[in-house]
Amino acid sequence: MNFKIKVEAIVLSILMLSIVSCISCSDSDTKTTENVSDSTILNVDASLFLTSTSAVTITTVPCTLSDGTSTDCYKIVATSTPSDHEMGPWCPINISDDASAGGIWLENGQVYDVDGAFIKNMATFYNDTNWHMYDANGAIYKTETQEDCANAANPNVGVEYENFCVECLPSYVAGLTQTYYIPVTPVKQATATNFGGGPPGRGDAGPSQRGIAFNGVVFDAPAPTDAILGAYTLAPFDDAGGHINFNAGYHYHAATGVSTQIAQADTHAAMIGYALDGHGLYAQLDANDSEPTDLDACRGHYDAIRGYHYHADAPGNNNFINCLYGAYAN
Ligand SMILES: [Zn+2]
Ligand SMILES: [Zn+2]
Repeated sequence: MNFKIKVEAIVLSILMLSIVSCISCSDSDTKTTENVSDSTILNVDASLFLTSTSAVTITTVPCTLSDGTSTDCYKIVATSTPSDHEMGPWCPINISDDASAGGIWLENGQVYDVDGAFIKNMATFYNDTNWHMYDANGAIYKTETQEDCANAANPNVGVEYENFCVECLPSYVAGLTQTYYIPVTPVKQATATNFGGGPPGRGDAGPSQRGIAFNGVVFDAPAPTDAILGAYTLAPFDDAGGHINFNAGYHYHAATGVSTQIAQADTHAAMIGYALDGHGLYAQLDANDSEPTDLDACRGHYDAIRGYHYHADAPGNNNFINCLYGAYAN
């Protein structure tokens, strides 16, 4: 055995020793070894989705993942109607209305009730006197028709909708369905994929959508709140963190704990759905109201019970997760 081979043998045995010793190591140690070789890999549990109504239909189809893996995916076809909670309200009617008449708004990490007082206070809140979303009687200007919704719920909203509270009603998208593909078995990658759908030319290849709730509603990309506010409109989310547009139907921008959650036997945060790469998606906070301290850049981490999985961001951040560590269906 020459010297070089001997050194390699020693390095190899140290490496194997550290892998063996890591079987009993803590979560934080596991993270430093990175998770491509995680021992717990859970298949997506299709039975967790709410398929008892026609709102969600799941079939298994062959698919090719972003890393070239040929495998099976779940094809999830969902209507825009969650079966586990009501949608809305979004815009209150009068500046005297309480929080039950409106939804929420997300700003600087905080969740604000869009009640009458919030609408009345917008010029102060945004330090801009152009905000004035109500008439002399306190009635709030808001979109009233499907045509208003089509015109106002897009990033290029015209000036005629300045100082309108924008809400699109479920009846406008009653016939809409969405189709998603997620790998039955998640395949973790050595590097993360950023989400696509950003500004043109940024080059991110990934999907723009983050995941799917058990009711079939998509956890969507952050709402373009700068564009919405820049047009002097407000497009509130309901208390479940969702609102409606013509392309996406009803979709979430915040995990507020309203859609179906699967409680965990330990103190770990409840499960709220799956990310598009087939890894589980969990609430931000555990039973002690604490966020995990070892999340990676995507907001994921590993444990032996759940395998690699993500934790949703705080609802006030208009965000769920930051990237995908698993391969996704092309
Ligand atoms: Zn939206
Ligand atoms: Zn966790």
